This record gives sequence, structure tokens and C-alpha cells, in this order.
Amino acid sequence: MDILLVGAGLSGAVIGRMLAEAGHRATVIDARAHVGGNCHTERDPETGVLVHVYGPHIFHTDDEEVWDYVNGFARFLPFKNRVKTTARGQVFSLPINLHTINQFYGKTFRPDEARAFIAEQADRTITDPQSFEEQALAFVGPDLYETFFKGYTEKQWGCSPTELPASILKRLPVRFNYDDNYFFHRFQGMPEEGYTPMIAAILDHPGIDVHLETPFAPERAARHDHVFWSGPLDGYFGYGLGRLGYRTLDFERFRAEGDWQGCAVMNYGDRDVPWTRITEHKHFAPWEDHAGSVLYRESARACGPDDIPYYPIRLVEEKALLAEYIARAEAETGVTFTGRLGTYRYLDMDVTIREALDTGRAFLAHQQAGSAMPAFVKPPL
Ligand code: UDP
Repeated sequence: MDILLVGAGLSGAVIGRMLAEAGHRATVIDARAHVGGNCHTERDPETGVLVHVYGPHIFHTDDEEVWDYVNGFARFLPFKNRVKTTARGQVFSLPINLHTINQFYGKTFRPDEARAFIAEQADRTITDPQSFEEQALAFVGPDLYETFFKGYTEKQWGCSPTELPASILKRLPVRFNYDDNYFFHRFQGMPEEGYTPMIAAILDHPGIDVHLETPFAPERAARHDHVFWSGPLDGYFGYGLGRLGYRTLDFERFRAEGDWQGCAVMNYGDRDVPWTRITEHKHFAPWEDHAGSVLYRESARACGPDDIPYYPIRLVEEKALLAEYIARAEAETGVTFTGRLGTYRYLDMDVTIREALDTGRAFLAHQQAGSAMPAFVKPPL
């Protein structure tokens, strides 16, 4: 079959590769001048630093098949994400761990003492937390919540944490030991030369044609037997029902000499500091040595029509609109929606690859059975 994949990010590359290996013809198009989607990395010409152009991406997973998969296309080197945060005039360790708790409260607690102390701070009247704020208050109490979560979250999401779902906070652990590894997955690392060469290697197959700077045009779809769409779900329908809400990010890029902040990621918890975090990109490749440095001062705001969508908002209003788009998508034939934008979900890279592998397999199974490939392999609501 002749397959069109719209978007040369992780989803398009992984699905395209699987179908090409199964003997199909895959055409991958992308409006941008590079492959890799938002994982794109490139070297800064002046300093040689490998820059995560659309913001930092750190690979972490518990999924062995996904880990083996990415290691088949790039050499991964060990990287542990150790995040710091500046709040109320001090620098603390994240995620909240025993060091953070002891520093914040001026204590020398051992793990059990800290656990008991935090349990006293926590709001025990909240038994079934619904919102981000309730979850945080039930989890760590008001002091830590207000210092580390409230201001940051207001800046990141542009609304009160009382309006956000508890699930957002569940991404972050609280630890009663000194483990400051931000992620708790078994496998964690960075591709030695960045994500773009890795994704280019996935796409490097005689059955795959890649066309960059090639926006999608509906006439094109008619020339193919099936389309995998990893662009925005609402964009496929020309935003006909309105736009799904996203947060976009602004990166103020600057260079420095030497080591500007001493770590890869410094969050800023205070509400009156306009940015959410500063990332120093050479620290994402600690095996490299550069005299100069490239940094991003990152802030979030509502995504307008000409901005790059990053974080799907998925509050009540967006979910209602999403349900309408899903119904329209399911009424289509010959197109499958994939990835973060195509399914309007906040997906980490490893989950994106897992779903792409599952989607490719589903396509091959449907083809063998002579049944129709659905619009979504994993329904987004
Ligand atoms: N968060 C926070 N303070 C921090 C870091 C994160 O309040 O210092 C909250 C914030 O609402 C964020 C969520 O926790 O959206 C998830 O954090 P994560 O680091 O996973 O966000 P990402 O790096 O994916 O943007």
C-alpha cells in the first residue's frame, strides 16, 4: 500500500518505518525544514552546544521494548535529570525530597520523621482530591504547595490550580530520601548526537520518502491508500468547530561564557518571576565540553493561531470540543490520528513511541484481516 504520514516527528517516523519494513511505501511530509518535530536538536554554530530547539527533551521509560527500539537508532549515554528550583530567595532540590524538606523547614529529619512531619502539614480533610490544589494540599500541605507548586503552576497553565485536574501533579513524586532523580523510570538517557539524527536514522529506509517544507494539502491524501496524521486534530478539520486550547512556550535564547547556572534545569517557583524555568543546554550533554553556553529562559502563555502548540489544556471546555472533533474524526475513513497533537494529549516521548509501535502493528493486523483501520488506536477521551 501507499501510505502518507503527515509529520516527521516520533510518531510519523516510527509508524513509517514499521510499514516500510513490512513492504509498504511510506511518504513522510513535514511543513518544517527538519525532521524530529518538537524533539529537534541542532548545534549552535557559535558555541557548538547541542540545543533542544523546542525546549528540553529527556528520554526516560520503563518500557523495555521502547528503550531497545531507540537504542537501535542512536547511542544513548547516561543522563539523570536533577532539577533545582529557585524560590523565596533560596535554591532547593526537586522533586521535593528529604533535602528539600530539611532545608525548607530548617530540620535534620530522617525519612520516617519527615514522613510524619509532612503528614501533619497535609490537609487530611481532603480525602478525594479533584483539583491540582486539593491534591497538593492533601499531599504536602500549604507551605510546600505555595512555595514550589502554586506560583509555578499559575505561570505554566495561566489559571488557578483550583481549576486544574489533580492528574497534573501526579507526574511529580515526593520522596522521603535524598534521591533527586526527577524521573523514577528504569531507563534514562540522551542520544549522544541529539534526537534529530536518531529520528533521521529511523526514517532512513529505502521504502520511505521524506519531503520537508511540504505542508499538507488535501489533494495529496487522495493519492495515498491511508493517511497517518500527527498534526493538530482540529487542524485536520480546518479548525471548523473552533480551536482546541493549548499553552505555547516562549524561549528567550541567550549565550554566556563558561557555566552560567551550574545545572541543566533551574525552575523558578515565585509568581513574580515571569519565566517558569531556565535551561542550560550543554548540561543535557555532560559528556561534551564547551567554553560557551546556550540558555533558554522559558515562559508559557495561551497559544494563538500562529504559535506552536505545546501543552493541551484539556479542561472541561476543551474536553467538550475534543469530543466533537473525535466524533468527526471517527466518521472519516482512511485516516488515523496519532501523537501528541493528533490525539490532543500530553505524551512523553516514550509513550509516543509505544503508541506508534502499537498503531503500526494495528494497521498491519487490520490490513491482513481486511478490516478498516480506525481513526484512533487509543481513543483520546
Ligand atoms: N510543577 C510545579 N513546580 C515545579 C515543577 C512542576 O508546580 O517546580 C507542576 C506544574 O504544574 C507542571 C507539573 O507540575 O505543569 C508537571 O511538571 P513536569 O516537570 O512534569 O512538567 P513538564 O516538564 O512536562 O512541563
